[in-house]
Amino acid sequence: MDVSVAQSQSVQAPPSAWALTYDGFDPAAEGAREALCTLGNGYFATRGAAPWAAADGVHYPGCYLAGGYNRLTTTIAGREVENEDLVNLPNWLSLSFDLGGAGWFDERQVRLLSYRQELDLKFGLLHRKLTFEDDQGRRSTLRERRLVSMADKHLAALELTLTAENWSGAVTVRSGVDGRVVNQGAKLYALFNNRHLEPLAGESVGADGVLLLVRTNASNLHVAQAARTRVLRDGVELDVERQGVFEPGYAGQQFETTIARGETLRIEKMAVLHTSRDAAIADPVTAAHKALGRLGSFESARAAHALRWTQFWGRFDLRLRPTGRPPTLNVPMLLRLNMFHLLQTASTNSIGLDIGVPARGWTGEAYEGHVFWDELFILPTLTFRLPEISRSLLMYRYRRLNEARAAAAQAGYQGAMFPWQSGSDGQEETQDLNLNPRSGRWVPDNSFRQRHVGCAIAWNVWNYFQVTGDREFLQFYGAELILEIARFWASIASYNETRGRYEIHGVMGPDEFHEGYPGAPVAGLRNNAYTNVMATWVMCRALDVLERLPRARLAELRERLGITDGEVRRWDDISRRMFVPFLPDGMISQFEGYEELEELDWDAYRRRYGDIQRLEVILEAEGDSANRYKVSKQADVLMLFYLFSAEQLDELFARLGYEFKHEMITPTVVYYDRRCTHGSTLSRVVAAWVLARSHRPEAMAYLNEALLSDVEDIQGGTAAEGVHLGAMAGTLDLVQRVCTGVEVGDDVLRLKPELPDTLAELDLCIRYRGHMLNMSLTREALTVQGREAGPAPIRLAVGGDERVLEACGTHTFRLS
Ligand code: BGC
Repeated sequence: MDVSVAQSQSVQAPPSAWALTYDGFDPAAEGAREALCTLGNGYFATRGAAPWAAADGVHYPGCYLAGGYNRLTTTIAGREVENEDLVNLPNWLSLSFDLGGAGWFDERQVRLLSYRQELDLKFGLLHRKLTFEDDQGRRSTLRERRLVSMADKHLAALELTLTAENWSGAVTVRSGVDGRVVNQGAKLYALFNNRHLEPLAGESVGADGVLLLVRTNASNLHVAQAARTRVLRDGVELDVERQGVFEPGYAGQQFETTIARGETLRIEKMAVLHTSRDAAIADPVTAAHKALGRLGSFESARAAHALRWTQFWGRFDLRLRPTGRPPTLNVPMLLRLNMFHLLQTASTNSIGLDIGVPARGWTGEAYEGHVFWDELFILPTLTFRLPEISRSLLMYRYRRLNEARAAAAQAGYQGAMFPWQSGSDGQEETQDLNLNPRSGRWVPDNSFRQRHVGCAIAWNVWNYFQVTGDREFLQFYGAELILEIARFWASIASYNETRGRYEIHGVMGPDEFHEGYPGAPVAGLRNNAYTNVMATWVMCRALDVLERLPRARLAELRERLGITDGEVRRWDDISRRMFVPFLPDGMISQFEGYEELEELDWDAYRRRYGDIQRLEVILEAEGDSANRYKVSKQADVLMLFYLFSAEQLDELFARLGYEFKHEMITPTVVYYDRRCTHGSTLSRVVAAWVLARSHRPEAMAYLNEALLSDVEDIQGGTAAEGVHLGAMAGTLDLVQRVCTGVEVGDDVLRLKPELPDTLAELDLCIRYRGHMLNMSLTREALTVQGREAGPAPIRLAVGGDERVLEACGTHTFRLS
C-alpha cells in the first residue's frame, strides 16, 4: 500500500481519532481498502468499492447478506467437491457516468489531481473526493457519501456530487442494480463453481426506480433489491427523461442532463434490500416496492443512521488518554475501526436473525463467510456491552445442536460435535483438500479435527451467563449446549489403565501446523494440552449447570437428554483425571510426543523465504512437513494463559492432581512464542496478553501488529478478501482486560486495574447483570458508577477489596 495508516495520519496534523483516511488511489492496495471501507449494519454489507467500479482484478464491489449462503459442487482433481459460500449479491452501488462524451468514467483513465477516501467511524459514512482532468483538459470534482443504514437495516444510500470546474456539457448517468456478478473475491476458491445467482426479474418501479429479483440456485434465497435515483441541481430535482436498461441480471436506467461550468449536480441513489428470509413481509418484491415508495431523502436517512451510531458509541467506545506525546500509532482510531467492524458484522439489527459471526465479517469471501472458533475472541466484547447480540449469536449454535449431535453420532460419539467451519445448517464445511499455491498440489485439510471449537461455544455460553445472569437463557438453551458438549468430550475421552487417566486422541489443537505425527498413516494428535484442559473445564461447567438449574427444569432436561447418574459420575471423574502432557522440564507440552519433534533452523528459513508466517505451505512445497518440527502457526498451549488467570489454572490443575507452578508460566510463554510464526492474526492477540506482564515491549509490539493486521495487510494480501474480525475484536477485549483486569466467575465482577505506561486514563462502559457501569481508570483510582436504576445489587472486587454495588451506586477504589 502506498501510504500506511500511520504514515498517512502522520502527515496531517492532528490525526483523526475517528477516521480511516487514504490519500491517493493505489490499485495494489484497493482490495484491502475496499474490505476495510465496507459498510454494513449487521444485516447486510457492501464493500467500499467506488460506485462506477466492477470486479476487474483491482476493484471488487461485493454485497453480502448476513448468513446468505449457497452450496455448489465442482469437480476438482477428479473429485466432486461441495462448497458452501457466502454469496456475492447484486451490486446496488452500480452507477456510471459519462462526462461530455469522454466515455464511462474510470479513475484509471483520467489524470487524478487529488483522491481522498475517508471512513467516518463516528457516523458510519464513507466519503470519497476526487478531482480529475480528462484528456481534453476538462477538470471535474466528484464527491461521494455513502451509508448502509443502522437505523433501517434494509436501506442503503449514496450521494454523488459532480462539479464541472472548467467545462460545460452533457452528463449521462446509468444507475441500476447489477446482478451479473459471481463469487470471485477469494483466490483460494478460484477453481470452484462460482455462479450462485439466477436472475428472476427486472422491472421499473414508478418513474425513477428499478427492481431486480434474483434467487440463489441451491438455497433458494430470493433477494429483491430496488433503487431510486434522482438528480438535483441547487436542491431542485431535475425532470430527466429516463430509459430503462434491462438485461438478464441487470435492471437500470439511463438519463442525460447538462452541466454548466462551475455548476454542481447532485445524484442521490437510495437502495433497499429484502429477502425471502425477512420477518414480517409478504414477499421480498412487495416489501421492496413498499420500502421504495416510503423512502425519504439521503439527508433524512443520514440523520437517522448517525443517531444510531452515536448511541452505539455511547456504549461501545473505549476512550483512551495517552501519557505524554501521542504515540506514532493512532491507537484510538484503530480500536474504533475494530469496534466499527464488529458492530457492522453483528449489531442490534442482527438480533433474531439466524446468523453466526464469521471470521472475516461480511467484508469479503475469504473462508466463505464461515463461522469458526474465532467467536471466542469476538463475543466477549459484545457480551459486556450489548449481550442481547451475543445471545442471538449463541442461538445460531443452539439451533444447530441437532446437526452437531448427528455429526457426533456419525463419528461414533455421543453429545454434540460442532463443526470447525459452520455455515447455513451447521454441517462441517471445512474442505477436504486445499490447494498449496506454492507447490500446486492439493493437500488434505485436516483442520476439521479441531474439536476444541465446542469448548469455545461452551465458553461463550458460560461467559454470557456470568455477565448477564440470564437464567432463562441458561435453562432453556445454554445448559443444553454445555451438557451436550460435555457429553461429547466424555465420549471421545478414553481411559488409559496404565496411566490411570483419561485421554483424547485424533484431534488437532488450535495450531494448524500440527495435523498429526510425522509419517503417521492417520492424522490427529494424542492429548493436545489445550483441548484436554478445555474439555476438563467444560466438564466442570456441566457439573455447575446441573447444580444451578431449578429442580423441575433439571429433571425435564435430564429426562429428555437421558443423562444418567452414571454419566454424571463419569464427567466428575474425567474432570479430575484428564491427562495433560508435560515436557521433561515441567512445561506443558503442546501434545503428547511434542518433545520428539525436531527444532527448525529458523534463521535459515527466514533468510531463504523472508516471510515465514505460513511455514506449513513452504515446507509442503519443499516436500517436507511442518508436522516434523517444533513450530506453530499460532498460540496453542498459550491459549490456556489467555483464557485463564493463574489462579483459575491453579484450581483446574489441582483438581486434576497436577502441580501447576506459577514460575513455569513465563518460560512456557517464551518457549512457545519463540517457536511460533503467528501465521494466524489471532495469535498476536494472545501473545500480547500472555507477554503483557513479563515482556512488556514485546507485548506492545504484538498488540501494535494485531492492530495493524488489516490496515497494513500484514499477511501480505489477505485483507482484500475480508477483514480479520477475530483479531479486531480480540484487540478490544485485550485492551479492556489489560487495563481493567476484568474477570467474571463465582457471581463476582473482579477487577485488577493496571494502566500500561502509555496510558494516563481509560473510560469505558460495560454491562453486568443489568447494570450499566461507567468505569473511569487513572493511575490513582478506579471509579465504577452504575447508570441503571432497578437491577439487584452486585458484588464487585478489586484485589481483596470486595464491595456491594447498588443500582446507580458509585464506588471508587484507590490504587496504590
Ligand atoms: C486460523 C484459525 C482461525 C481461522 C479463521 C485460520 O488461519 O488458524 O485459528 O479460526 O483462520 O479465522
